[in-house]
Amino acid sequence: MSDTFDGAVFRRGDPGYEEARRGQMWNACVPARFAQVVVHAGSERDAVNAVRLAKHEGLRIAIRSGGHSWAANFLRDGGMLLDLSRLQEWSINIHARTAWVRPGVIGSDLNRALKAHGLFFPTGHCMSVGLGGFLLQGGFGWNSRLWGPACASVTAVDVVTADGELLHANATQNSEIYWAARGSGPGFFGAVTRFHLALRPRPKVMMNSTYLYPVELLEEVFGWAAAIRPRLPRNMEPLLFLRRDLFGHAGPGILVMGPTMADSREEALAALALLETCPVLDRALRREVNVETEIEEMIAGGEEMLYWPNRRYAADNMWTNASARELLPEMHRIASTLPGAPSHMMWILWGPALDLPDMAFSMQSDIYVALYSVWESQAQDAVHQTWVRDHMKVLEPLASGIQLADENLAARPFRFMSEENLKRLDRLRAKYDPQGLFHSYMALPA
Ligand SMILES: Cc1cc2nc3c(=O)[nH]c(=O)nc-3n(C[C@H](O)[C@H](O)[C@H](O)COP(=O)(O)OP(=O)(O)OC[C@H]3O[C@@H](n4cnc5c(N)ncnc54)[C@H](O)[C@@H]3O)c2cc1C
Repeated sequence: MSDTFDGAVFRRGDPGYEEARRGQMWNACVPARFAQVVVHAGSERDAVNAVRLAKHEGLRIAIRSGGHSWAANFLRDGGMLLDLSRLQEWSINIHARTAWVRPGVIGSDLNRALKAHGLFFPTGHCMSVGLGGFLLQGGFGWNSRLWGPACASVTAVDVVTADGELLHANATQNSEIYWAARGSGPGFFGAVTRFHLALRPRPKVMMNSTYLYPVELLEEVFGWAAAIRPRLPRNMEPLLFLRRDLFGHAGPGILVMGPTMADSREEALAALALLETCPVLDRALRREVNVETEIEEMIAGGEEMLYWPNRRYAADNMWTNASARELLPEMHRIASTLPGAPSHMMWILWGPALDLPDMAFSMQSDIYVALYSVWESQAQDAVHQTWVRDHMKVLEPLASGIQLADENLAARPFRFMSEENLKRLDRLRAKYDPQGLFHSYMALPA
């Protein structure tokens, strides 16, 4: 059977099966879920053949592109794991400012190539996030507060459907599939083999200011940040982190940053001036303002601070329109129980909500809160996973929803799109994948 594939096929028990199962998986916490067959697609043709094979053998399909799903949504028991990470071609049309990418393309690789042409795409913040899952779930990318989630810049997709046919879907052709492919994430009912993207001119200036405050100022700093949120320009990505061991401060400390992508230094300086209005500015342990930087440098800094290789990660999140006063009691509890670095809590001051096209992605609020616990030993799995889940559970009454980027649905199901869109997605799944050939979300809210 392997002969009919450009890539490789591993049945459970075959030599190489376990390596193929773990494959590109980023999180070192690999769940004990075992596909019957793993297909490493070597070409688009393989993706089509794999779907047909799965249909023929009655195997449900789970798909992996970059392997960055924290919860390893792509690892399911039984069925087929279709790994598209080797599909890494892309093509850029400089004049039309468009590109197409295969799902295994890494976002930062694409932006490195676009840089030479003065172009840009809102890829993710980590060096190695794959575009497949990132674009399907929405995609908080660089400058997404201005341009919207990355999926808003997807103009078409090529999809292998449950019939084993390769279709092109855009706003006028197979438009229902196109609608679903922008935001359904792990609940999409097909295998995307190509994304067509609208590109942006690369902003001329990237500037950032960084402040480190001691945790004793939690109320003052988070309260102030929530208050200035409506005034923050959309080309700034205002972030607050709570983490231990920042710049030699045992902590926990609160790191405030505002990476800003602008067309001029003046525009960036005006935006960052707002971060100087914190009422406890004079008590900052560290203050580095108006530093001109490059996106690659910001990504490298993020990797060093947040994303350590070969560690076990648990993540969970919420969107909220709650006030700082309502949120602060639980922020205190998170701070006082925060595990060692690089475990962290992150706030993105996102809102006011953006006007977005009609697509499955439909969840956004004023503030995005995410928790990430990071550890080394398998023996500690339950402690860390429970820490993340339980804090987010306490915050549930203040949440409007979650983002699929940091989903933890199997452990804590919660709404991730509007009710109307979820119903529409269910109807489309029933229409395009009536037998449930493709796996969907690991769990749904009651
Ligand atoms: C270190 C790190 C940093 C991150 N930073 C960001 C960030 O800055 N912004 C952000 O928005 N998210 C971020 N994420 C979350 C990440 O974007 C999501 O986990 C996303 O799904 C990863 O894309 P992937 O291709 O690696 O997905 P995978 O883990 O390979 O896939 C996730 C799921 O998407 C579906 N899927 C993937 N590819 C396809 C396909 N081709 N066809 C059909 N279905 C498919 C499958 O259901 C699969 O289970 C980060 C994650 C990590 C681990």
